[in-house]
Amino acid sequence: MTLKKLLRKGRGTGHEEPPKYTELEKRKIALQRAEQLKRRITEYLEASKHIPTGMSCREKIEAQKKKILALFGATEQDWQDWKWHMRHRITDAATLAKILPLSPEEIEEIERVGKRYRWAISPYYASLLTPGDKNCPIRLQSVPDPRELEDEVGEEDPMGEAFTSPAPAITRRYPDRLIINVTNQCAMYCRHCQRRRNIGEVDRHTPLADIEAALDYIRHHEEIRDVLITGGDALMLSDSFLDWILTELDKIPHVEIKRIGTRVPVTLPMRITDNLCAVLEKHPPIYINTQFNHPKEVTAEAKAACDRLVRAGVVLGNQAVLLKGVNNDPHVMKKLNHELLKIRVRPYYIFHAKNVKGTTHFVTTIDEGLEIMEKLRGYTSGLAVPTYILNAPGGLGKTPLFPPYVISRGPDSITIRTWENRIIQYPNGLPADRRKFPVRYLRKLCFPEKCEYRNCSCPDEQE
Ligand code: SF4
Repeated sequence: MTLKKLLRKGRGTGHEEPPKYTELEKRKIALQRAEQLKRRITEYLEASKHIPTGMSCREKIEAQKKKILALFGATEQDWQDWKWHMRHRITDAATLAKILPLSPEEIEEIERVGKRYRWAISPYYASLLTPGDKNCPIRLQSVPDPRELEDEVGEEDPMGEAFTSPAPAITRRYPDRLIINVTNQCAMYCRHCQRRRNIGEVDRHTPLADIEAALDYIRHHEEIRDVLITGGDALMLSDSFLDWILTELDKIPHVEIKRIGTRVPVTLPMRITDNLCAVLEKHPPIYINTQFNHPKEVTAEAKAACDRLVRAGVVLGNQAVLLKGVNNDPHVMKKLNHELLKIRVRPYYIFHAKNVKGTTHFVTTIDEGLEIMEKLRGYTSGLAVPTYILNAPGGLGKTPLFPPYVISRGPDSITIRTWENRIIQYPNGLPADRRKFPVRYLRKLCFPEKCEYRNCSCPDEQE
């Protein structure tokens, strides 16, 4: 019997007895399936060879780092000191032009944008820049772009955060959790920042009185079991101040977990010092969500920082932002998630970029986001599949977006689409009469000529 006939042997109307396969036939079917599965990732395997990562660009990063050290007359010891990086953040076009080729027009544009929107790049993050590549994902995220000034559709506060602050320094959008905003400072001011309205002319930590009022609010609301400390970047606080906040939260019996929002593993991994890790280790359970957006950001330094955090008992997650030109490509996003898992960071969310004034040149269509999700689920480990999130305007909360896997639902059955576009009817619970709808034999309803899904890869159509 040919393999095709062998496979057909198991299909039918769903009313026959299960077919009997010999061991040899089962192995033949498994081998054919294995070949079919391998073909599903051929395109990605080829594309992935050409996607730069922080590890594969090691030599280029080292060369750029040398240039920056020479520019500031600094040493390797300085480089390992996060405070040195903060003191030497690049904030003017003339300095940037010494490590990144910029035309006079580009220098003028950066200065013009800088008058409206603040910018700063840590020397570490600048070492990831690829000179000469105007589409470098690091450059797009860090260097001011004239499109920021051309934005006529963005809003200052599309999330309506000003209307979700029931107490000083607090943002509350959900029943059992809230945010304490502890600072407006970051190691770098990302060009796509969704909170850029908070990034003023000067770095400013939240006044102690406001943080005390926020803690008081949490003490008086027993339903709050999860507190996210963020900003800005929560790890811009001193170790001792962070220790104090975490200690105060630990004293509140109903606070079960603390989360910290920070991008320093990406923009300033030197901030993850042994001393900071000793502080974090004292206050379990702590979850840190960071924001890697491109595989090029997953460097040896970032890995070392994540290793230190994991050793301190911190659970790490990633909240990427879907950004046009940076990661709006299924292969790039998959590679990013694979690189993250290698450094023990679990891809958690992909945020659809919000309509924030000065950043809308990064906004993709939702179709692009769904297409990325379509190419992740099934094609790679579930661990590498984050949830695609649209933040509903007006502070109405995160809404997950999924490609349509449920085609229809009825009282007796559900019709689903698998990751390979196989349409299957499945019983809605165990049927009373198994002969009517046997669980083992699911009716196959795929009609490729009627398929409405883009890029249909229906196996029966192709093979
Ligand atoms: S680190 Fe976060 S809060 Fe700070 S500028 Fe970047 S995106 Fe905005």
